[in-house]
Amino acid sequence: MTDTDARPAPPEPRHLLATEGMPAAEIGRILDCAETYVAQNRSRERSPPLLSGRTLVNLFYENSTRTRTSFELAGKRLGADVINMEVAASSVKKGETLIDTAMTLNAMHLDVLVVRHPESGAANLLARKVNCAVINAGDGNHEHPTQALLDSLTIRRRRGRLAGLVVAICGDILHSRVARSNIHLLNAMGARVRVVAPPTLLPADIGRLGVEVHHRMETGLADVDIVMMLRLQTERMSGQFVPSVREYFHFFGLTREKLKAAKPDALIMHPGPMNRGVEIDSEVADDIKRSVILDQVELGVAVRMACLDLLTRASLP
Ligand code: ASP
Repeated sequence: MTDTDARPAPPEPRHLLATEGMPAAEIGRILDCAETYVAQNRSRERSPPLLSGRTLVNLFYENSTRTRTSFELAGKRLGADVINMEVAASSVKKGETLIDTAMTLNAMHLDVLVVRHPESGAANLLARKVNCAVINAGDGNHEHPTQALLDSLTIRRRRGRLAGLVVAICGDILHSRVARSNIHLLNAMGARVRVVAPPTLLPADIGRLGVEVHHRMETGLADVDIVMMLRLQTERMSGQFVPSVREYFHFFGLTREKLKAAKPDALIMHPGPMNRGVEIDSEVADDIKRSVILDQVELGVAVRMACLDLLTRASLP
């Protein structure tokens, strides 16, 4: 039988690994595609089963609430079979390496592997080894591209554009893959990015990322359109980066008082999980006029559907 030989070779799988280097046109295409899924998700219309017969595996080596659930929902809403690998219950606990685990899954003919891992570069490494599409759901402090895409969709829907807006990303920039992915994406889309953090929580290469650096919330938030708060990512810290949580909240926690420096209609964002009373006060986090934190969660599903949709069209046989 030569039927398999006669079939054309499947196209090279395309991956979604980072926003660094992503052209504005491609970002726009993903956001436009996501818009169609926002409406569909709200009306509970059935999406065309684009991923019917496809298998998506969520391989998460770090905790997750929003990202894992929304990839699962996105895959299911597009008709895929979705498997959530329980890393704690898998052979990873018996010492199997990341590559061996991925190659094992690869041998079962997956179509999409969504991976989160504590090491920067883990998703890129896997993309070179497996022959399915790989989506980076967060690798160490490197990148979290779908978070930045959903953040931009949230901003674009509220403000109608990204170009020309001033966005302040505040807090633990050093350990944040969300900050890095947002900086690259927002710069590509013509927004102006400021980072606001104590010097201990800024990466050494911050000067090369094309952002304005501030060490005080009062100046960093002056006249900004968007305030994006970040969690202190203690799980990635080796040693003491802030004197105390109380002092950190005093200087860098977002309160109604500090928010007065921003534009009167500035939006408040947070990728979650929030640590209330550490980087953000409940009064602003729950302000229904300014906080778009739950919009971010909602739009995360649509953005992930768009990423799966576009990857499917581009690379799956
Ligand atoms: N959920 C985001 C991430 O996985 C932000 C955070 O954990 O603070 O990077």
